[in-house]
Amino acid sequence: MLIPDLYRRNQLTISFEFFPPKTEEAERVLFEETLPKLKTLNPAFISVTYGAGGGTRTQTLRIVNRIRKEFAIEAVAHFTCVGSTRQVIADFLKEVEDLGIENILALRGDPPKGQESFQAVEGGFSYAVDLIRFIRERSRVSIGAAGYPEGHVECNDKILDWDRTAAKVKAGAQFLITQLFYDNAAFFAFEKYLREKHQVEVPIIPGILPFLGVEQVKRFTSMCGSKIPPDLLRRLEACANDEEARQVGVSHCAAQCKDLISRGVKGIHIYCLNRFQSTAELLQQIRA
Ligand SMILES: Cc1cc2nc3c(=O)[nH]c(=O)nc-3n(C[C@H](O)[C@H](O)[C@H](O)COP(=O)(O)OP(=O)(O)OC[C@H]3O[C@@H](n4cnc5c(N)ncnc54)[C@H](O)[C@@H]3O)c2cc1C
Repeated sequence: MLIPDLYRRNQLTISFEFFPPKTEEAERVLFEETLPKLKTLNPAFISVTYGAGGGTRTQTLRIVNRIRKEFAIEAVAHFTCVGSTRQVIADFLKEVEDLGIENILALRGDPPKGQESFQAVEGGFSYAVDLIRFIRERSRVSIGAAGYPEGHVECNDKILDWDRTAAKVKAGAQFLITQLFYDNAAFFAFEKYLREKHQVEVPIIPGILPFLGVEQVKRFTSMCGSKIPPDLLRRLEACANDEEARQVGVSHCAAQCKDLISRGVKGIHIYCLNRFQSTAELLQQIRA
């Protein structure tokens, strides 16, 4: 199933994002305990990250393959420019094809630990747009790309960054998944700009992170350049512990999702961090 086709259905498309588990035991827990429960929430697809935190291409493809084969859930393999020469990309595409994987999310990736700014490997690419163009010319997979409602953290001109997002669509991206955000105004401004200024017609899918605690959400947002609205921050800082903060986060994200859905978004992508509870509570509150 190609991801863009899911958004042509007349129903809300819920999707999840996983990272490849770091140990055999964590993988066992994911496949034997967490995924069977998450499957009951009816995700249309699950995307699996690549590289962030040291994951490899083999791990991402193995997890994607297992989700598709063992759970009959569509899955998307993330891939980045980090360390990727044209030969590595060609090898990746061959593996994707051999495994019958139909969807990938093509990214530049963050600079590896110890590097201040992103450096393309010799024979590789500096920007996701070039990776997308390269893949488009060689493969029939459906390609997704990342979008940043508050602008990418390295770009101090949000509009310029949005223009570059549109360029990724022109190069062949068929769906966009956004960075996490907690203020819907940012998402709607981003969506309106892409639709009206660049006639972008592909699905633009909001990424939502129901976080686990105050310090975690502060760390994540500062790393990716998203803002915590002052009112939400005040409520989080008044919480007695992380469990209380987690519940405040779930309620905030549920209100956010209800507003997004009532204003016409076709899907929600939940950064579920390989966990069940917050995702289940979020969906329960959205569907209530
Ligand atoms: C949904 C989602 C999933 C993600 N999954 C992963 C993952 O699995 N693994 C991982 O490592 N990271 C992942 N990331 C993080 C992502 O790799 C980083 O945000 C990275 O810093 C940028 O990737 P990109 O594909 O958006 O890059 P790009 O679109 O290439 O943009 C990167 C920067 O370059 C600038 N730029 C783009 N084109 C040009 C140009 N022509 N000239 C000058 N500047 C330009 C942009 O404005 C931006 O500041 C994910 C992010 C999102 C939103």
